[in-house]
Amino acid sequence: MLIAANWKMYKAPAEAAEFCVRLRDQHLDGVNVVVCPPFVSLAVVVQLLAGTEIGVAAQNAHWEPEGPFTGEISPPMLRELGVYGVIVGHSERRQYFGETDELVGKRARGALAAGLFVIGCIGETETEREQGRTEEVLRRQISVFEPDDNLVIAYEPVWAIGTGKTATPELAQDAHALIKSVLDVPVLYGGSVKPDNAVSLLTQSHVDGALVGGASLDLDSFTSICRAAARIPS
Ligand code: PEP
Repeated sequence: MLIAANWKMYKAPAEAAEFCVRLRDQHLDGVNVVVCPPFVSLAVVVQLLAGTEIGVAAQNAHWEPEGPFTGEISPPMLRELGVYGVIVGHSERRQYFGETDELVGKRARGALAAGLFVIGCIGETETEREQGRTEEVLRRQISVFEPDDNLVIAYEPVWAIGTGKTATPELAQDAHALIKSVLDVPVLYGGSVKPDNAVSLLTQSHVDGALVGGASLDLDSFTSICRAAARIPS
């Protein structure tokens, strides 16, 4: 079971450091934990979590190793910093930064080629679900990924991200089953996962963990989700 914390554009270095100093004393055995801070906080988080089992991942990366791409960060740069993974294709990037399926595929390939672990995000919008297009959208978004031991998919229905609306466990289970029928990799659920709904989602047989946004910003709620995951037999 993998629980990843997506801090989005929260926690500058001082706040990130304070969180990590408390996180590393938590003894979160029996669950794989990954923290995804904003770029500027990666170095301090890597430093403070060194020697623990907790992984550190970035929230985005360019696909090329280097080049004239002002403002961008490459996978080998992240590796050099001690970062082990990266999120690609988060719905906020698709929604606000014009990220296309093609770009998401390029980012995933570039990151995997550099030896990073990749969390590839997919998910339908509310309109797409209402129009009965969920399966078509998920199949299209998955098509840019290839199976890889260093790849997991995060199913994040866009209507459930940061909205407090959570997919029912059955809806998540069905979507995960569809995804796994196309691509044989672990699938995390993301979308308003909180301590009080984590168990019902994580006990679904096709749910292999969670990508947690809002609830990962608070140490107690994040560790309570991690502990719930640790108690679920694999
Ligand atoms: C996310 O940012 O990936 C996410 C799932 O956010 P939230 O948990 O806040 O819905």
